[in-house]
Amino acid sequence: MSKSIYHLFCQLILTALIIAGCSQEIKMNEDLKDLEEQREQMVQRQITARGVKDPEVIKVMRRVPRHLFVPEDQVKYAYRDEPRPIGEGQTISQPYIVAFMTEQLELKPGDRVLEIGTGSGYQSAVLACLVDSVFTIEIIPELAERAQKLLADLNYDNVVVKEGDGYIGWEEKGPFDAIIVTAAPPRIPPPLLEQLKIGGRMVLPVGEYFQELVVVSKNQTGLEMKNVLPVRFVPMTGEVRK
Ligand code: SAH
Repeated sequence: MSKSIYHLFCQLILTALIIAGCSQEIKMNEDLKDLEEQREQMVQRQITARGVKDPEVIKVMRRVPRHLFVPEDQVKYAYRDEPRPIGEGQTISQPYIVAFMTEQLELKPGDRVLEIGTGSGYQSAVLACLVDSVFTIEIIPELAERAQKLLADLNYDNVVVKEGDGYIGWEEKGPFDAIIVTAAPPRIPPPLLEQLKIGGRMVLPVGEYFQELVVVSKNQTGLEMKNVLPVRFVPMTGEVRK
């Protein structure tokens, strides 16, 4: 091959690579835009249309990139109106349920919040945008590790993930202004009631096959409980089954 033909050949290869790279990047930008549109539709059709009103909760549901919290093969379904599998037989909760439960907690910026059932870390990220600190416990080591890494990579610096059984809560970090449980125990774990501050709120699914979302308010005179919605969560495992 003469020198000039060789140069021409190299230039052609280089041009082809640049074009391929650019179209790849355009495709990625289009995919991202598509996911952002899906997220906006999720907020409008599933969350505000069904009565979630807290502007701060709505803002956060618009912002947190839910598709980054699901396995790769679930990305295109991340904004659907349903829970989706995240591995280890567990699920990321339906977007509406995440927004509804968060709204029920009536959070304030300085709050300390305990979450039982980290799962994908999505609910933890939503909480992290609204309060000062989030403590979250996950019983399956692989999920705890994955969520911890993801939350750190995405700079949710005010979330602490612990592997363990959330039935006993996290006494050293309590008491908490709010507690959210995202796996269903058959009855309310007493340690969680103890670790709730007076004036605090807890939201959790309670029951076996048929479950009710219960909102607990703790005040000077005692506990007030309200059933707010029939739901279907994965069961709480560990100590509560013994
Ligand atoms: N909040 C999660 C939902 C995860 S599903 C999200 O946003 O993705 C509920 C999670 O609770 C599962 O990952 C399950 O492993 C976990 N879990 C079940 N029993 C538990 C227990 N006793 N302590 C801590 N986590 C528990």
